[in-house]
Amino acid sequence: MWITNGTLADVAVVWAKLNGVIHGFLVEKGRKGFTAPEMTGKHSLRASVTSELIFQDCEIPKENMLPKTDGLKAPLMCLNQARYGIAWGAVGSAMACYDAALGYAKSRIQFGKPIASFQLIQEKLVHMLTEITKGQLLTLRLGRMKDKGELRFQQVSMAKRNNVHHALEIARTAREILGANGILDEYPVMRHMANLESVKTYEGTHEMHTLIVGEDITGIPAYV
Ligand SMILES: Cc1cc2nc3c(=O)[nH]c(=O)nc-3n(C[C@H](O)[C@H](O)[C@H](O)COP(=O)(O)OP(=O)(O)OC[C@H]3O[C@@H](n4cnc5c(N)ncnc54)[C@H](O)[C@@H]3O)c2cc1C
Repeated sequence: MWITNGTLADVAVVWAKLNGVIHGFLVEKGRKGFTAPEMTGKHSLRASVTSELIFQDCEIPKENMLPKTDGLKAPLMCLNQARYGIAWGAVGSAMACYDAALGYAKSRIQFGKPIASFQLIQEKLVHMLTEITKGQLLTLRLGRMKDKGELRFQQVSMAKRNNVHHALEIARTAREILGANGILDEYPVMRHMANLESVKTYEGTHEMHTLIVGEDITGIPAYV
C-alpha cells in the first residue's frame, strides 16, 4: 500500500525477504501477477499518484535482484536522502504559510486597524518566524555536515521530525490568522496543511523518528 507513482512507474523497486534476508528486486510493469491500481479518496497530497502494489503468484527472475542489497541498509540509505530533502521541503511549506499570514495580517482591517497591529497576532508571527529560522539553521548545518560526509541518520531524523512538526503548527497558525479565508484555495495555507499531514507520516512517522533519536540519546531501543 501507499507507493508513490506506483501506477505510473515502468519499474518498481521492491524490498522483500528471500530466505529471511531483505533484498531489492526490480519488477517491471506488465509482469504476470503484478498490478498497481491507484489509491483513491486522499484528502492529502492529491496532486501525487499513490498506488497499491499487488503481487499474486508473481515470479521474478534471479537477474532482477539488486546486487549488494542484503538487509535493511540499502533501503535505509535511500530513505536518509529523502528525509534530508523533506526537512528542507517542510521549511519551504512553513515559509509559504508565514508569508501568506504576514501579508494578510497587514492588509486585513478590523476595529479600524490592520490585524497585524494586535499583540496576539504579532505573537503568532514571531513564533512562526522563530521556528522557521531554527528549522533553516538546523537543516543548513546538516547540509554542511552532509557535504563533509559527517552526517548521521539520527541527525536527519531530528530535522525531519522537528521541521515537519513545526511546519504543521505554522500552517495551523497561519490558518487562524487568515480567519475564514484560511480555508480557501485562494491562499496556499490549507493545501500545505493537508499535505503536511502526509509528510508527518511518510518517510518515517513522527513517532518513529522520536524513537530513533531516543535510542541515540539513551542507547536503549524502545521500538517494541
Ligand atoms: C501520500 C503517501 C505516500 C506514500 N508513499 C510511499 C512510498 O512511495 N513508498 C513507501 O514505501 N511508502 C510510502 N508511504 C507509506 C508511509 O511510509 C507509511 O504510511 C508510514 O511508514 C507509516 O506506516 P503505516 O501507515 O503502516 O502506519 P503504522 O505502522 O500502522 O503506524 C500507525 C501509527 O502507530 C505508530 N506506531 C507504529 N509502531 C509504533 C511503535 N513501535 N512505537 C510507537 N508508535 C508506533 C506510528 O508512528 C503511527 O502513528 C506513503 C504514505 C503516504 C500517506
